[in-house]
Amino acid sequence: MHDALLERGFRRVPSGSVDIYEGRLLITSGEVPVTVLVPDLDFVTMPLVHISESWQGPDRRLPHLGPSRLICYYALGSVVLDRYDPGGTIVRCIEQATRVLEDAVEGRSDADFGAEFDAHWSARWMLCDLPAGYSGPATIIYPRLSVASEPTPVLVAGSSWARDRDPPRRADGPEETALVVSIGTPLTLDPERKWPPADYDELVDWLRWADPVLTSRLEEALSSGTGHQATLAIRATNGTFACRITVPPPMRTVEFLVNRRSTLARNLARPVGQVSLERITADSADLGYIYGRNLGSRGGLAGRSVAVVGCGTIGSFLAQQIALCGAGTGGGHLLLVDTDDLRTANLGRHLLGIPFLHRNKAEACARYLNIMMPGAKVEWSAKAAQTLTALRGFDLVVDATGEEALSLALNQAAVDRRPSGPALLFCWLMGNGAAAQCILVDGEAGKACLKCLKPELAGEPVYPVMRPDVEMEFGRVEACADGEFVTFPVSRSVAAAALACDLALDWAAGRPGHRLRTRIFEPDKAFEVADCSPGVTDRCPACSTRR
Ligand SMILES: [Zn+2]
Repeated sequence: MHDALLERGFRRVPSGSVDIYEGRLLITSGEVPVTVLVPDLDFVTMPLVHISESWQGPDRRLPHLGPSRLICYYALGSVVLDRYDPGGTIVRCIEQATRVLEDAVEGRSDADFGAEFDAHWSARWMLCDLPAGYSGPATIIYPRLSVASEPTPVLVAGSSWARDRDPPRRADGPEETALVVSIGTPLTLDPERKWPPADYDELVDWLRWADPVLTSRLEEALSSGTGHQATLAIRATNGTFACRITVPPPMRTVEFLVNRRSTLARNLARPVGQVSLERITADSADLGYIYGRNLGSRGGLAGRSVAVVGCGTIGSFLAQQIALCGAGTGGGHLLLVDTDDLRTANLGRHLLGIPFLHRNKAEACARYLNIMMPGAKVEWSAKAAQTLTALRGFDLVVDATGEEALSLALNQAAVDRRPSGPALLFCWLMGNGAAAQCILVDGEAGKACLKCLKPELAGEPVYPVMRPDVEMEFGRVEACADGEFVTFPVSRSVAAAALACDLALDWAAGRPGHRLRTRIFEPDKAFEVADCSPGVTDRCPACSTRR
């Protein structure tokens, strides 16, 4: 690396543990003196390229030039960082920094201000729960989003999960009026102007430059609001950015705030006292964004009614995963069913821990998910789920109990109700977690049910998974009156839950694909079984006794 830099005319500056070099970048308009700092030859941290104070650049703001004149030359994938080729890597970094600076100085990359706008606007934030493309009046509310949290500002229009989260404050919490305007372009800054706007006048100047319509929206926000604060939130394609104007104390009179409200914007241009401006960045917090962002075109479980029977080691993680995919939101709901309480025996492989000990597992999981997931409607029941009667209204019932008798009862009810729903999804572990399996039993005629996989209770499975002669290992802790239990680590429960969650997502997308899916974790104990959608087994008592 040293030689590569010397070849480029750089010289090493004596320093401590960090390698520092001084040299010049050659751009069309001349030479730019820089300092190159290499904090780390593994390139986990990028080499830093600083422009020296002695350089007189153009008299305007440059994109990609950060504080302390650091060139932000690194965009994802623009430079290959190779710890095994430090010389080549540092040369590529310097070449990329030169290109970035050249484009900035020549005014070819001003559009990139839009991408950096978020960083330039403000470190203050609020949440934003608005419909896509919304323009119109809105409110900033201050709910406590969790028991211990401070009130959080949330920009809403009408109903919002954030309102429902803190009912006691709903009636008497502070609220501010705001105006939202959606624009189909990114917000960007004016390189010729001081940035960011520090007061009302600078804000008006910038808005006029950005889009004259925005100045009239600001006037509207001021004249239509109440009280001595007014907020304009601009939803641009590069984010939502708000500015809050506070009328100075001498102007907080009935005369200015009520009688002459319609001309408040004009009066603030010749203010009596200091008009304060706060810039706030709004983080998207609408449910479509929260639950849909990561699923892309796949689609999720929002709007579906899903029941999870069994909130033990598999069911608790599965309930969490399907809640993260939107189950219980968008008008759907999520019901968790379990008859047992959470015990210390469960803690080593359960979603929940100490705060929920000795509470019903379904209740505890519902409570936990309602706290963690915004807008989710998670309910619970401690009643046994032997029949589908109570579950008829659901689109999907997931059985994660691993209790054969219960599963077969649910299976029979599902087969009897074909072709109507709900669809049933069973998932379980085999042989101390050597394999996980799940099957979807939906209304599709001619497809195998759970019982089709093993028509005789004590007989051989139609699709053998476990290798013969594999001994099961049981645990027994007498002192805890724990009874006998099957040992396996939490990793297998989470993997089984993930297998079932994928199948649930495919079902929701209307493309269930393989209805029987198997994952092998210990090939010495289990056979590879290809995923498939088996047909009905001739001698299946569930399918043949269909009432
Ligand atoms: Zn069957």
